[in-house]
Amino acid sequence: AIMRSLWKNKVPLEVGRMCYSSSVPTTKLFIDGKFVESKTSEWLDIHNPATNEVIARVPKATQEEMLAAVDSCSRAYESWSETSILSRQQIFLRYQQLIKDNIKELAKSITLEQGKTLADAEGDVFRGLQVVEHTCSITSLMLGETLPSITRDMDTYTYRLPIGVCAGIAPFNFPAMIPLWMFPMGMVCGNTYLLKPSERVPGCTMLLAKMLQDAGAPDGTLNIIHGQHAAVNFICDHPAIRAISFVGSNQAGEYIYERGSKNGKRVQSNMGAKNHGVVMPDANKENTLNQLVGAAFGAAGQRCMALSTAILVGEARSWLPELVERAKALRVNAGDQPGADLGPLITPEAKKRVTSLIQSGVDEGASLLLDGRKVNVKGYENGNFVGPTILGNVTTNMKCYTEEIFGPVLVVLEADSLDDAINIVNKNPYGNGTAIFTTNGATARKYTHEVDVGQVREPVTPPLISEKWRHSVL
Ligand code: NAD
Repeated sequence: AIMRSLWKNKVPLEVGRMCYSSSVPTTKLFIDGKFVESKTSEWLDIHNPATNEVIARVPKATQEEMLAAVDSCSRAYESWSETSILSRQQIFLRYQQLIKDNIKELAKSITLEQGKTLADAEGDVFRGLQVVEHTCSITSLMLGETLPSITRDMDTYTYRLPIGVCAGIAPFNFPAMIPLWMFPMGMVCGNTYLLKPSERVPGCTMLLAKMLQDAGAPDGTLNIIHGQHAAVNFICDHPAIRAISFVGSNQAGEYIYERGSKNGKRVQSNMGAKNHGVVMPDANKENTLNQLVGAAFGAAGQRCMALSTAILVGEARSWLPELVERAKALRVNAGDQPGADLGPLITPEAKKRVTSLIQSGVDEGASLLLDGRKVNVKGYENGNFVGPTILGNVTTNMKCYTEEIFGPVLVVLEADSLDDAINIVNKNPYGNGTAIFTTNGATARKYTHEVDVGQVREPVTPPLISEKWRHSVL
């Protein structure tokens, strides 16, 4: 019902030079507490990745609209930053309940625009919900510190205070989780928030905005603009915006980091990845193969924490044929079809990029152990599907190793020892996440201490997550 009310105004759709009389819904801007139709003349089509049908359109907001959004944030900040922590907490307590009650509706909108399976889409919402639940602990998170008698007759204390208008720029791969990393935490601390969702998947964010309003967030505390480069430049340049959170590719992230910080803003850029899973021969084989397959191919590999590179150490090399068999068994289908393990890639361009990186591996001498390029998904022949693909005998100079593929492709390297494996991982310029598969505590400890990567996972015991969420780990 929320979706219908947001999208009720229909506009004519133009495809190429043809103008169809049918209509597609338009995505609204959210400015000063109102869902408004953009006055722009520039619109982008949003496609269902399983069919490539146009399902909605999103505006490139005009300069005037973006200014109205940031002005609304600035005005709202004056009173919002003065509200009590307890009243902000109450809003987020209601918000987390609304998200929980609507998880299926949110997941459906994600699958429609992003393509991932419904189970993955629910996981996407669930991970974001956990952040919203965390905001409800704001009464202790905002505590400051005191140090009495720092010198004679003098005490020191610190407060945690909001900084003003903050902005978020989000990617396409987690339409719920990543926006929910951004505005709830910023807002509960007393900041107001300007959000630019990915232009490819804005629908879920609009539902989340409506729920936030229903939870009682005052007008102007969250504003949403849409667009691409002009919207990003606007956020990097506008003097009222004090801090930017970015999640997405290296290309965009480095640009935003530089442009935003040149303008005196705090910028955090969370960017691309090439995550290695080191497989030791003493690992639990069953668990390891299941987890590798889930982490490499789940969500069609479009996760920043996908384990897209395996390093088989010593005897673990002999597990490769079984890994291939398990990957073969995964079912590729539209995300809303029962039994689908992985859905399509986001766009035809993404499919082209992924298939050409697979080909580059073949051309550079890797062995194509499983080729998902010709996958046939009955009834969805126009979708952007690539099936699970495994490249063996990969070496560190190959393009399929040096570039982030962001598709259902696992590249497999081999190493003689743990030291050799660590050496490979540490030479790779990406450092988002990594995992080691072993049953030996000392090996796991050595790995976590010596590897130069931000997040390390050591599944020495079976994972403490239920089957339902297995494919939904970031
Ligand atoms: P993207 O960089 O193409 O887009 C992200 C955002 O930046 C979008 O809102 C987009 O409009 C904007 N943008 C795109 N190109 C731009 C440019 N040249 N200049 C300015 N703005 C630009 O990323 P994506 O394809 O949507 O997402 C996939 C990428 O995100 C992958 O590289 C993935 O690893 C990364 N990612 C990282 C994390 C993390 O936490 N590190 C999490 C999820 C995704």
